[in-house]
Amino acid sequence: MGTRSGYEYDAIIIGTGIGGLVAGAYLAKAGARVMLYEHHSQPGGYFTSFTRQGFTFDGGIQACEDCGMLFSVLRQIGVLDRVELKKARFGLATPDHFAVLDSLESVQAFYRELIKVYPDQAAGINRIVEDVGNFCRVMEAYCQLPNPMFGPLRQAMATYPGWRKKYKGDLKHSKEFVEYMKIPLDVYLQKRLTNADLILFIKQMMYAGAPASFTLSFYYFVMDYYHPRGGFQSISNALADFITEKGGKIQYKTLVEEIVLENGRAAGVRLKTGEIIRAPYIISNSDARRTFLKMLPPEATPETYRWRLAETPVSDSVITVFLGVDIPAEEIKTRDCKHIYYLPDYKGVDVLKSLDDEDAYTRAPVEICIPSLEDPSMAPPGKTAIVLQSLAYMNYANNWGTENGKRTEKYKALKEKVSNQLIANAEKLIPGLSGKIVFKAVGTPYTNERYTLNSEGATAGWTYNPTKAMNTGWEGMKGFKTTVKNLYLVGHWTMSPGGAPAGFMSGRIVSSLVKWRLRMRI
Ligand SMILES: Cc1cc2nc3c(=O)[nH]c(=O)nc-3n(C[C@H](O)[C@H](O)[C@H](O)COP(=O)(O)OP(=O)(O)OC[C@H]3O[C@@H](n4cnc5c(N)ncnc54)[C@H](O)[C@@H]3O)c2cc1C
Repeated sequence: MGTRSGYEYDAIIIGTGIGGLVAGAYLAKAGARVMLYEHHSQPGGYFTSFTRQGFTFDGGIQACEDCGMLFSVLRQIGVLDRVELKKARFGLATPDHFAVLDSLESVQAFYRELIKVYPDQAAGINRIVEDVGNFCRVMEAYCQLPNPMFGPLRQAMATYPGWRKKYKGDLKHSKEFVEYMKIPLDVYLQKRLTNADLILFIKQMMYAGAPASFTLSFYYFVMDYYHPRGGFQSISNALADFITEKGGKIQYKTLVEEIVLENGRAAGVRLKTGEIIRAPYIISNSDARRTFLKMLPPEATPETYRWRLAETPVSDSVITVFLGVDIPAEEIKTRDCKHIYYLPDYKGVDVLKSLDDEDAYTRAPVEICIPSLEDPSMAPPGKTAIVLQSLAYMNYANNWGTENGKRTEKYKALKEKVSNQLIANAEKLIPGLSGKIVFKAVGTPYTNERYTLNSEGATAGWTYNPTKAMNTGWEGMKGFKTTVKNLYLVGHWTMSPGGAPAGFMSGRIVSSLVKWRLRMRI
């Protein structure tokens, strides 16, 4: 593949999150000379793991939906055989009920259980049960659509009639699905239910303001969850190794501070060291605000867009508690579920509306992730690695007691307090947990921001609220384009709702586009 003379690389990628790695791997595979810069000491962004005292923890994402992409992308790049993906069984639990989510019926049964607690809401709950069924089946149909992006067009066309026949009945609900993608879940719930506690209970299972049909169909994702043996770092390492084997380069502990423009086009990057490296195409896997508001001069971006970037809310962050415990795997009874979403209270809590309440997490749901139950490589013999997570926000409890972004004694004390509240709730499922902890670390939204440079520790790009987000609906299909020539975006900021699929998809699309444009240059 040719390059324009005078350039050392064909493309520079800023960041090695899943979007950057996927774009880099496809480009390197095609023979393009790629250079990736990563400010952290290892690749992955939120596809990351770390090991302490023999316990391995996933630092960001805990399980990933295939959604017709995870396997397809890894297979097409040629690294699927380097990772071992295991189905991750998911459970939903309350103090008096445990539901293993292994079929659509099991999800619907969980919702029907709520009628016992809220009998006067039965009619509304039954309507929700119906919508969960319809929307999950539509989501399944979309995810199973033969996709020419991941295989030969002829093969996609050959399998299309079978797909259409299989999902014909389900696709009847597509129009409604699309309509409800424009409505936040709480607005939808207020149409179906009158009990505020129940509305809150259901709402707290998803990111703030998430679209109604997306939320109700997310159970399809949950039943389609996978976890890689050894943790998510193994996916990132496989992609990074592939890139370097194909001649690409990755430089860690290197912050890109500026995207260099020549005649209004992106033509290079300036590193924190001051060094300038040039390439005809620049792909940013960095935070959207950082890309446009910090790395580019103001005149490169329209004023109205700059305003939107600054004002649009970001997606929820999380508080994460990493625990190494002296409990053998066989003593942890979670019905073979490695991931359990535990809801301690049928009343629910909206942490976003309880920012001054330092006890909010006594009532907040906690996701309990224990992949080491099935993957002994993640914990020392006879012990177990557990990750607890709950949605969190940077401005909780007076910015977590920080002062001008600096960690204080108050910050440390609050981390301890909130983490103990989450442990107390998890203990209802894992008796004796608090007394068996041999390692503990806690990450807040500040930790997420520090490691991944995502604004406010956002875990999935822009807010999920369709009435406030950027790059929703069809707009998201071109969220990789920018106002600057030869500059593209990859990763979760390219579409809302964001997440891993946004990284896979944008990485695949942008790599094709850049490959095509590089060929045009020969
Ligand atoms: C707790 C949690 C649970 C999640 N659960 C799910 C789930 O169930 N399903 C799902 O689909 N998604 C989930 N996600 C979201 C998903 O993990 C992310 O959306 C996705 O991994 C983001 O990928 P990305 O390509 O946008 O890059 P990111 O992960 O955001 O990484 C960006 C990388 O770029 C680097 N970088 C940024 N700027 C610069 C710069 N200027 N110079 C050098 N390097 C830079 C950063 O250091 C980072 O490594 C979850 C996330 C979290 C945290």
